[in-house]
Amino acid sequence: MWTDTHCHLDAPEFDPDRVVAQRAEARALGVARCVIPAVERRNWDTVRALAHRLGDAYALGIHPLYVPHAQDDDLLALDAALAAHRDDPRLVAVGEIGLDFFVPALGEPAMRERQTHFYRAQLRLARRHGLPVILHVRRSADALLKGLRELPTGGGIAHAFNGSAQQAQAFIDQGFALGFGGALTFEPARQLRRLAAELSLDALVLETDAPDIPPQWLYVTAADRSAGVPQGVNHPRELPRIGAVLAALRGLGADALAHATSANARRVLPRLAALA
Ligand SMILES: [Zn+2]
Repeated sequence: MWTDTHCHLDAPEFDPDRVVAQRAEARALGVARCVIPAVERRNWDTVRALAHRLGDAYALGIHPLYVPHAQDDDLLALDAALAAHRDDPRLVAVGEIGLDFFVPALGEPAMRERQTHFYRAQLRLARRHGLPVILHVRRSADALLKGLRELPTGGGIAHAFNGSAQQAQAFIDQGFALGFGGALTFEPARQLRRLAAELSLDALVLETDAPDIPPQWLYVTAADRSAGVPQGVNHPRELPRIGAVLAALRGLGADALAHATSANARRVLPRLAALA
């Protein structure tokens, strides 16, 4: 049984009329649970309703790429939403939150500060509501870790992790698991593949980040895209195949990896255990 700890099943790429059947397809392949993170105030009700409809779990938060459009009172609204749904067993984390210093416009000094303001405020909310966090990490691992040292949440997931072994260990020391997905299916991603193969098995969770980060077998090259071929849409049904790649890198059976990474997900997102 696999756990997809990060999939945006409310994204426009997934037709709301077909998403139940699509989710069933993934379930038939052994994807027992998906975690659907929110990205902005406007989609909080959607991800909650979807998690209930699909028998999955969700997180509520403001994603760093949505910070430019977010208002300060969205943080008050998040506090209220976390309080309103505190007894909802499907609410498993505050997320997706974090920092993105890869997108040039978000790396400008004023926007770095704005992102940091939302990140730290959401760490405080996670602490207040006793929830782990799901972190977006892109060129921002050290800044995220600084926030966690000052405002520890007890843990969560550093999603789509692609940092150094030292940064990985620093997240692990803060109670985090590291999320790996489609990126490790690319042979040229040597550093990432080495990290995924060498980190302690306890530290790993799997994710698709659907509809994004397509695995190698769905990836459409920039040249083909400029010729009009659309980028492949990632989906939770790809998780077992992505997991099989990681299992092979580690010299493990796929079942053993599925079992271990699902147990890790339940450890870092404890409310998942109650759903199982
Ligand atoms: Zn995401």
